[in-house]
Amino acid sequence: MGVTEGGTPRHGPAPRRHHPPRSQQPAVASCRWPCHLRLPDTVTPPWPPPLGHPPATRGPRGGHGTEPGAPRAATKGISHPRPTCHCHPSHCHPQPAVPVTSVPCHKCPLSQQQSTVRRVPHASFHSPHVPGLVPKPPSSGAAMDLVLEAADRHLLTPYVYPAGWPEEEPCRQLLSLFVITNLGALALYLLFGTLSYYFIFDHELKKHPQFLENQVSREIAYAVRSLPWISVPTVALFFAEVRGYSKLYDNIEDSPFGWSGVFLSMLSFLFFTDMGIYWIHRGLHHKLFYKRFHKPHHLWKIATPFASHAFHPVDGFMQSLPYHVYPFLFPLHKVTYLGLYIFVNVWTISIHDGDYRVPRLLRHVINGSAHHTDHHLYFDYNYGQYFTLWDKIGGSYKSPTSFEGKGPHDYLRKLREKELRASNGTVASEKNPGASNGTVASKTE
Ligand SMILES: [Zn+2]
Ligand SMILES: [Zn+2]
Repeated sequence: MGVTEGGTPRHGPAPRRHHPPRSQQPAVASCRWPCHLRLPDTVTPPWPPPLGHPPATRGPRGGHGTEPGAPRAATKGISHPRPTCHCHPSHCHPQPAVPVTSVPCHKCPLSQQQSTVRRVPHASFHSPHVPGLVPKPPSSGAAMDLVLEAADRHLLTPYVYPAGWPEEEPCRQLLSLFVITNLGALALYLLFGTLSYYFIFDHELKKHPQFLENQVSREIAYAVRSLPWISVPTVALFFAEVRGYSKLYDNIEDSPFGWSGVFLSMLSFLFFTDMGIYWIHRGLHHKLFYKRFHKPHHLWKIATPFASHAFHPVDGFMQSLPYHVYPFLFPLHKVTYLGLYIFVNVWTISIHDGDYRVPRLLRHVINGSAHHTDHHLYFDYNYGQYFTLWDKIGGSYKSPTSFEGKGPHDYLRKLREKELRASNGTVASEKNPGASNGTVASKTE
């Protein structure tokens, strides 16, 4: 965990501060904002500063300076005493150059004395009202924070939770994250799984002899039973993100290399998670774990898109672990993380969709449905997720049988041809009983 100039932990919740009443605050001699404007000693700068004032620069990961929301890099020679109120958002998290929508606050007596307050996440400014609870930094650097805040604002706060239950209270956050994670995962799985099943999956594959009876409903039932259990440890990690312990950031300015940093982080996310999944998946094939945790996923030899999330809970969580570990180790834009989270779910569905096409140039680079189907059929090959890189390094790469005319589709085609020949032979033998010894059939071949 890094430490800012003021000694405040950069990722952890900010320590609780006790500000003196505003009336006792000494007059300041210079502007509180990172501008070059010097003020007479007797003048107290307006608070919040007027529109048009230079905006505050934000520190890394959403403005975590020496205090939440404080301009991190104060201009040299200018003091920036904090305002008196430790509750009111317009005092604590000002963004003076940006016009904001003001709304009445019904949450604290202090803000009711004012006519309006700035709309900021309640999680930030109501923290001091909760005894024993440290306030969360104004921008926690969590992708789930975006979803949680939207759910709180539009649904949970006005319609679901009791009015006295603060939004940043840990039990409430955990409960909300559990519900959001489960509904989100279920929606992604059912929506993209259904689209893939009806528009991409070749239903001919259901005639394959290794396709199980009622397999689709069994896959869905298994996935739906597992998802809540997978979400339990997942929610613990999301909670750590929401409380500000990850390296997720809000703004492009916080990216180490700007936009190119965002692009590089996407690439590194894919390569990091591909490597992590390869070794975890390979470990799950070890005899100590295979039968207990991973075998249920290999029940489906000819998988459908609905097999994509049909894992034992331990298996499902372990294989998703690299996605959750990455933002604790490397900086990542939070919206990018949300996008990647959706992408990995869609990719997982796509490698079970039975569409074996891959551009010829990428056939031995991308781990597609053809590669993963062979993993389901032959077990010890093609453990990777996106790329074949680690299978080639680890000696487990197998060129997909469907690229060589020996895949499930080819098997079905041969089966159909055989049945056709057999039926032709039967018809011929019925027309000419004397040829029932198969001589007619052999002529048709
Ligand atoms: Zn496997
Ligand atoms: Zn699979």
